[in-house]
Amino acid sequence: MSTAEAPGESCRSSAGLHGPSPSSSTPGAEQREKQYRAHRGFGDRRGGVISARTYFYADEAKCDQHMETFLRCIDASGGSSENGFSAIKLTALGRPQFLLQFSEVLVKWRRFFHQMAAEQGQAGRAALEMKLEAEKLQEALANLGIATKAESQHWFTGENLGMSGTVDLLDWNSLIDSRTKLSKLLLVPNMQTGQLEPLLSRFTEEEDLQMKRMLQRMDVLAKRATEKGVRLMVDAEQSYFQPAISRLTLEMQRRFNRDRAIIFNTYQCYLKEAYDNVTVDVELSRREGWHFGTKLVRGAYMEQERERAAQIGYEDPINPTYEKTNEMYHRCLDYILEEIKHNRKANVMVASHNEDTVKFTLHRWVLGRQHGVAGTGGLRDGGGRAELR
Ligand SMILES: Cc1cc2nc3c(=O)[nH]c(=O)nc-3n(C[C@H](O)[C@H](O)[C@H](O)COP(=O)(O)OP(=O)(O)OC[C@H]3O[C@@H](n4cnc5c(N)ncnc54)[C@H](O)[C@@H]3O)c2cc1C
Repeated sequence: MSTAEAPGESCRSSAGLHGPSPSSSTPGAEQREKQYRAHRGFGDRRGGVISARTYFYADEAKCDQHMETFLRCIDASGGSSENGFSAIKLTALGRPQFLLQFSEVLVKWRRFFHQMAAEQGQAGRAALEMKLEAEKLQEALANLGIATKAESQHWFTGENLGMSGTVDLLDWNSLIDSRTKLSKLLLVPNMQTGQLEPLLSRFTEEEDLQMKRMLQRMDVLAKRATEKGVRLMVDAEQSYFQPAISRLTLEMQRRFNRDRAIIFNTYQCYLKEAYDNVTVDVELSRREGWHFGTKLVRGAYMEQERERAAQIGYEDPINPTYEKTNEMYHRCLDYILEEIKHNRKANVMVASHNEDTVKFTLHRWVLGRQHGVAGTGGLRDGGGRAELR
């Protein structure tokens, strides 16, 4: 696709300009996050990206073609190695608009949790350190009209919820999962008005079908990867798609990583929120008993992300300096290596060409082996990848 064509195509496919526009006439439009709205100037997502392929949505047949290509890659990988892997991009499998909208919903619900935590004097804590008092949370839910205290009473008595009278981010996510049916997916709390509001107009029937087909394609790929014993690495993409990509990947991990790590999520350590994302997902895998699999990268979209944030006017999601990104990478890697040490279910691919990172990984690996704690999967190196488990 030419540079001239790409912005229009991307806007149609990921702007919400297809169908009702997110204008002031749309319910909740004034609550829309700038980061999660498509902008014509950034329609061509290839800008400033040299090391990653960009897919544009054409139609459903094209997405099927991409899926067939990915299937052939999985077959080829399975045929040439006993422990192969294959990478996919979710923007190749469906309309990016869905990823954009779903990302916004996830981020809003998470912010709601953080805001509640701040109101309970817990601002600035790491994500997993925030614990909301169930009682106060119930009051807030009642004030927002989400559920009366009587209705929400039993939400906090389940096996995992509020065991100590508190609710953490994982309890909160699982609560949202169970309460938010697909039809209500686009409802988000508005802290100013104290109402639940639709984020956008509902999906049209066709859009709803497109979303389901995207999930079906992911399912087909995950099943084939499982059959062939190939690890499926889901690439991380732009930050405005990433919450949805990461969440959908996590759903696949829950289903397909019961016996071994087949599905790998990618964490971009140039993101300010990388450590919180890694620790929350590792903790979820521990609680639910599945195999955590990750590809750890620094991130390929820095220039585009920064320019977009500056031009559109939202906080830059990227760490302020290269050193901070390095620090973040090693902090996340350290956390996962500790997890491997204590719980052999975790797996990591160190996807980096950075010499310090390779040395850091080797050093930790050798130390681990000396103390008899490194996993048995071994350390393989090549093409910017080292795998540890
Ligand atoms: C096998 C493999 C798979 C990959 N998969 C993905 C993927 O799914 N998604 C993805 O986004 N990328 C992916 N990448 C690319 C990766 O994110 C990096 O862009 C690339 O590898 C360069 O980083 P590095 O660690 O190798 O080296 P380095 O040269 O040490 O790091 C360069 C990176 O540091 C960060 N950086 C540089 N300057 C600054 C600054 N001023 N402030 C903050 N951060 C800064 C940027 O992320 C930049 O790309 C993958 C790379 C490999 C090798």
